[in-house]
Parts: sequence; structure tokens; C-alpha cells
Amino acid sequence: MQASDFEFDKHHIWHPYTSLTKPLPTYGVTRADGVYLFLESGEQLVDGMSSWWSAIHGYNHPALNAAAHQQIDTMAHVMFGGITHRPAIELCKRLITLTPQSLDAVFLADSGSIAVEVAIKMALQFQVSRGKAQKHKLATIRQGYHGDTFAAMSVCDPVNGMHELFTGVLPQHIFASAPKIKPGDTWCNSDIQELHNIFKEQHESIAALILEPIVQGAGGMRFYHPEYLRQARELCDEYDILLIADEIATGFGRTGKLFACEHAQISPDILCVGKALTGGYMTLAATITTRHVADTIGNGPGGGNLMHGPTFMGNPLACAVACASLDLIIQGDWQYQVPAISAQLQAELKPCLQSSLVADVRVFGAIGVVEMHEPIDVAAAQKQFVAAGVWIRPFGKLLYIMPPYVISPEELHKLTQAICAYCLSAE
Ligand SMILES: *Cc1c(COP(=O)(O)O)cnc(C)c1O
Repeated sequence: MQASDFEFDKHHIWHPYTSLTKPLPTYGVTRADGVYLFLESGEQLVDGMSSWWSAIHGYNHPALNAAAHQQIDTMAHVMFGGITHRPAIELCKRLITLTPQSLDAVFLADSGSIAVEVAIKMALQFQVSRGKAQKHKLATIRQGYHGDTFAAMSVCDPVNGMHELFTGVLPQHIFASAPKIKPGDTWCNSDIQELHNIFKEQHESIAALILEPIVQGAGGMRFYHPEYLRQARELCDEYDILLIADEIATGFGRTGKLFACEHAQISPDILCVGKALTGGYMTLAATITTRHVADTIGNGPGGGNLMHGPTFMGNPLACAVACASLDLIIQGDWQYQVPAISAQLQAELKPCLQSSLVADVRVFGAIGVVEMHEPIDVAAAQKQFVAAGVWIRPFGKLLYIMPPYVISPEELHKLTQAICAYCLSAE
């Protein structure tokens, strides 16, 4: 890449959540291997982001590469309407085996946001199909993030989400306060009282409760008490409301359990997975539900069809790589890697609290968060991190890392040291 390439990029290409009139600097990456990103300028950076939770096994992984090569030489893509293929069948078998027993019907979506759209559609279509069309609202908790398409956006946090820009367009759903009690702290039922009251008063219009189990990701990187989730499940049963668990960020080991729902020993009616599903190789997600939901929709109006079908549904290449990634998950190294990362994050990020700029340090599973009192200057922070040999992308007041599971203690140390150095140097 030359200077003119960066100029072109700056003027013509939107990056996530950016402006073309006030562009932020971008870094040219030419290669990625293991936990390293290689910059065109010659630096080699330890990746703290796993490309937004997805590259859990590291980049350029031999098993994932082999699966991709083998599949691309056979069949890169074929439509899923009226056609089926081994990669999709193998993937869905694995998904049904790995997820809670009651979940056994899979819709292959092409991104996380679409998996959430499909989950919402399933919930609404389920209610219509059983003659409860008046149950057409969604309930959720504040500080959530569920994606960028319109239905997903409508259940993102109304303040830090994009609601203001699209007032009047976004459907109005029902928000309870975000849970306050953290994992490990003493539980108190008052934390879930508001949700209970909402259900009590409005259950006749609520189709489903959608939430991120235990870890609220992009909406604020907050962790909450598993008892909240356990009681939310009970309340959903009591008030005839479906529970949608959005595990797009938390699925496949990130929190120390295969799925974050396991911390509360509950099973949702609808589960969304994505992000790490292909080990970060390409976009693929899935919405998985129970036989009961699938059959109710199947016996309902509209011929019983679930009304969704993306062009690239069940893309064989993505499915083949996802199978290889899930096979690595089934092998189980993550069960040792994630707790080790967690313990090291705990020990090495705590010293950041010595900085007067730091409001909170929290760790859950292989996720480390340092929350500052003030918003972070992203461009300046990023420059400092690149100089320190690490890739960390702050957002808002948050510095956070969720490294690939295969990271070594030395590589992880480099990440935590860079964060501590940033917190102390910015004082
Ligand atoms: C990232 C994310 C999504 C959206 O996934 P995309 O693939 O970016 O559309 C939805 N829910 C959660 C919890 C996420 O972290």
C-alpha cells in the first residue's frame, strides 16, 4: 500500500462507525498469523481484540486453512433453497450437540445482526402462530448491544445505541434497567424487581425477552450476576414469554463456559451465535431454537414457513471452516486457556487502578476491561498502543481486550503492560 492508497481509503471507504468527512487514521495490515497482526510499516502487533471476539484460535490456523482449501476446491457456494450439502449438515449436527439439549432446530444466518433479526422474527411468528398476535413487543435490558440492522438496533441501549438518530423509525420496545449486581457479589432480588414489574404489567403484549447472558458486550462491557439470568428465565416461564439469548459475543468459551447461559444453568428458547463461529475466518451466524417453537411456527399461518432466506444462507465455505473451528472447541484446550488468561488479566490489570484516570477494572473469563472516567482519544491511544507493539481498540471510556485463546503468557503480558502504561502515562 502506498500513501495514495491510504488517501483513497480515507476519502472513499467507510470503516465501522466512521465519518468520511472526519476520518480517523487507519493502519495497513498485510498479514496475520497466530496472535500477530503484521503492519505494512513493518511492525508486528499482539492482537488484543481477536478481530472483535472472532479469531479465538489465532490467525492463519492450519486446521481452519485446510478446511477452507478443501471446501473451496469442491464447492465455494451454492444456493440453499431446495439444495442441501454436507458442510451445512455437519455444522448443524455440531451446533445441536454443543448447545443445550432442548435446542434442536437451526437457521443459518449470514451475520450476527441477521441471526438476531431471525430470532426476533421467530419469536413474533411463534406468537402469531399460537393465536397470540397481541404479544408483539420485545423486552430487553439497557446497556445491551444486538447488532446494527433495524430490528436489532431497536433493542440496543436507547442512549448509547442509535435510537436518537432514527426516532420515529425504530419500533418502540420495553427496556428494564441494566442489572447492577456483578458476578461474585452478593445477590439481592431487588436487582430484578423492575423486570418483574414490567412482566407483571405488560406480559400480554410481550413476545420475548432478549438479552446478552452475563456479559453485555459492545453496549458497555458490563458483567452481571448469573442469578439475574436464572430468575429472568423463571419469569419468562411464569409470564409466557420466550427467552432469546444473544451469545454472539459470549459463545464458544469466551466466558469460561461453552455458553454464558451455563453460568446460570439455564437454557433459552432461542439462541443466537456468530462471531467466533468460524474462528474469525468469515461471516456466519446461527439462530437455534426448540422443537416446540419450530413446530408451532410450522403449524401456523403462512404455510408454516419461517419467512427468511438470505442469498448466502448456509454458505458451504463458511460452514466447512465453522466445523473445523468447532472441532477445535470440542477438543477442549479452551477449557484450560480461558481460565489461565482470566487469572493473568486479573493480576496484571488491577494495577491500573493506581491511575486517577481509571474508574474500574473488571475481568470475566478471557475478557479484560479498564473503564476510564473520561472518553478516550482513540487516535492518540491507538498510536501509543501500536508503538508498544499491541493492537487494542478503545471505545468510549473503555479499554478492553479479549485475546485469542492461544495467546502465550508473555504475549498477554505485553497487552496488559501496554494498557497499564497507557493509564499511567495519560495522567
Ligand atoms: C457483534 C454482535 C452482534 C452483531 O453481529 P454482526 O455480525 O456484527 O452483525 C449482535 N449481538 C452481539 C451480542 C454482538 O456482540
